[in-house]
Amino acid sequence: HQETAERIDYVFKVVVIGDSGVGKTQILSRFTKNEFCFDSKSTIGVEFQTRTVTIKGKVIKAQIWDTAGQERYRAVTSAYYRGALGAMLLYDITKRPTFDHVARWVEELRAHADNSIVIMLIGNKVDLVELRAVPAEDAVEFAEDQGLFFSETSAFSGDNVDSAFLRLLEEIYDTVC
Ligand code: GDP
Repeated sequence: HQETAERIDYVFKVVVIGDSGVGKTQILSRFTKNEFCFDSKSTIGVEFQTRTVTIKGKVIKAQIWDTAGQERYRAVTSAYYRGALGAMLLYDITKRPTFDHVARWVEELRAHADNSIVIMLIGNKVDLVELRAVPAEDAVEFAEDQGLFFSETSAFSGDNVDSAFLRLLEEIYDTVC
C-alpha cells in the first residue's frame, strides 16, 4: 500500500484488543501490509503500524496499535488507550471463551478510553468455519446491545479485513470530523 507523502488530513489512532491468540497481530499485518505470517511473533517491541486511506476525499493515516502480547499479563495500560478514536475488539469464532471475555474488554475500554471511541467487534478466523463455536447471531445481539459495530473476518484469507477497518475509519470520521 503506497503512502501518500504529500498530504495527510487526519491521523486516527486505533487500538486492537482481545484475548491472546485471537489474531490481533495477523489482522493488523493483513490490513497494513496485506501479509499473513505463519507463527510469527515479531511484533514484540513494535508499537503500531500505519496505512493511509482516502475517506470522503480526505487522506487519513490510520495508526493502528497492537498490544504486542501485553494482554497476556493484563498489562494493557491507559497509555495504550490514550487518544484512541477507534478499537477493533477481536475474538476467535472457534474459541467460545474469547467471546465470553468480550464484555470484559468493553468494560476496559469504557474505563480507560475516550467516551466517544468507536468500537468494532470482530469475530476472526471465519476460514475455520467448520470449527465455529460462536454463532454470528450471539455476536450480533451483543453488538446491538452494547452499541458496537460487528463483522466477521479472516486474517488468513483476508476476507472482510479491509472492509471492517474501512467501516471503522468511516465511523470515526463521521464522529470526529
Ligand atoms: P494475537 O495473540 O491476538 O496477536 O494472535 P496472532 O495474530 O498471533 O494469531 C494467533 C494464531 O492464530 C497464530 O497461529 C495465527 O497464525 C492464527 N490466526 C490468526 N488469524 C487467523 C485467521 O484468520 N485464520 C486462521 N486459520 N488462523 C489465524
